[in-house]
Amino acid sequence: AKRMRLDKLLSNMGFGTRSEIRKVVKQGRVTVDGAVVKDFGMNLDPEAQTVMFDDETVIYKDTIYVMLNKPQGVVSATEDTRDRTVIDLLDPEDQVLQPFPVGRLDKDTEGLLLLTNDGKLAHDLLSPKKHVPKTYEALVHGDVDASDQDAFAAGVTLDDGYETMPAKLIIGEKESREDGIYSQITLTIHEGKFHQVKRMFEAVGKKVVYLRRVSMGPLLLDESLPLGSYRPLTEAELESLQ
Ligand code: URA
Repeated sequence: AKRMRLDKLLSNMGFGTRSEIRKVVKQGRVTVDGAVVKDFGMNLDPEAQTVMFDDETVIYKDTIYVMLNKPQGVVSATEDTRDRTVIDLLDPEDQVLQPFPVGRLDKDTEGLLLLTNDGKLAHDLLSPKKHVPKTYEALVHGDVDASDQDAFAAGVTLDDGYETMPAKLIIGEKESREDGIYSQITLTIHEGKFHQVKRMFEAVGKKVVYLRRVSMGPLLLDESLPLGSYRPLTEAELESLQ
């Protein structure tokens, strides 16, 4: 039989954050098999027991969809012999659902990573035919200018000969340091080749020194998530992906 904490079940099923859930449980608004339960840490079998929240039955699903603010130093894989993986950042109760990252971020890249065990959704988001836009913020060593915007809009040739699709480059603030100019940029690409953003800047002779993803399709990185933490997608976010 499956075992799960009451507060975890309710938050995974989209009934609020863990702290919100703890409050409503203490208020006596949650029943298990017809009896009010005030212990939010109660262990139960979500498949065999009936949980109700304000007279609404909580339907248990075995799927998981979470947004992670990936920190540097962890790899976007489910297993690795040397490095910590993004899966290691999840609670054991979430790990048992066997989520995997939808696409990859480099070990030194931060930001938005969707993790799910929904293979179809992952496949659709990653399909090269769908051209799902992904937006990155970067710090680039070099003076990024209009010629780079034109080059990225037209498509650049990567080191392996691949021609990139048109991409939108927005130039932000610049900073002068001892070893030259650094440029803050925002780049939206519609494909996902290996190390694509770094290699696009290499193609124009500049180097990405910091990279983070801020959006993927309709999903925006929740800026209130500290690096290394995650939360379930909201109903609205999930709907936007279907
Ligand atoms: N492009 C990169 O170069 N690295 C990433 O992690 C993502 C996009």
